[in-house]
Amino acid sequence: MYIVMLGGPGSGKGTTSDELAKKYNIEHIATGDMLREEIQKESTIGINVKNLISEGKLVPDEIVTELIKERLEKSNNGAVFDGYPRTIEQAKILTKLLNELGVKLDAAIELDVPDEVIIQRIINREICSNKNCGAIYNKKFKPAKQEGICDKCGAKLIKRDDDNRETVQKRLDIYHKESEEIIRYYKQNELLHTIHPNENTQPKEVLDEIARSLKW
Ligand code: ADP
Ligand code: AMP
Repeated sequence: MYIVMLGGPGSGKGTTSDELAKKYNIEHIATGDMLREEIQKESTIGINVKNLISEGKLVPDEIVTELIKERLEKSNNGAVFDGYPRTIEQAKILTKLLNELGVKLDAAIELDVPDEVIIQRIINREICSNKNCGAIYNKKFKPAKQEGICDKCGAKLIKRDDDNRETVQKRLDIYHKESEEIIRYYKQNELLHTIHPNENTQPKEVLDEIARSLKW
């Protein structure tokens, strides 16, 4: 099973993808996490993308394609793509890559969350510094039991470089501009399912809504 998660920054893609991956026993492929890992390793890719990411800009399609291609070659289990595709070119490349593997996309899920809710979520987000854990918290909506420490693995919680008020507005503008065509593309291919979480919708309700919409 292959699923694409669409939605603005902070719309809940990572939180939901984690649960979907567990529920359907598929991989969680998050290009943002993969890029942050490259930055941590100080690889050539990491050095090239560091400033783009902290400024809230998109990384070039070629770099993302290289990472996704490599990852897909190693996975044969199905996947939920989180934060990918982010441009129409990436969406078309993904269709082609899956075709080459002899599989196809089953659904594209759009999390349509109001911008003001997103801003509150992002400025309060914390993530686990252990890349093998990657748990996501929120100071306001999902605090860790012990402040600053991951409930799951005990590692330190950190704030992302790009999670600040100035950058989030830029990331939202880019999302609105780029996603229009992607959403149209998946709608035309009859793969689109749109969910409308609001500030009170709990992660579990988002999952239930997705399951209802997909009839899975
Ligand atoms: P994305 O992957 O789309 O950037 P995340 O899954 O990291 O978004 O969620 C952004 C922030 O919002 C995180 O701090 C997360 O804990 C919180 N969050 C996610 N879903 C919900 C929800 N349904 N209600 C409240 N907070 C949420
Ligand atoms: P995310 O963790 O999904 O919020 O992504 C963090 C940042 O990584 C984004 O703001 C972009 O700079 C970059 N990024 C992640 N995924 C992509 C992608 N598919 N295409 C281009 N840039 C990406």
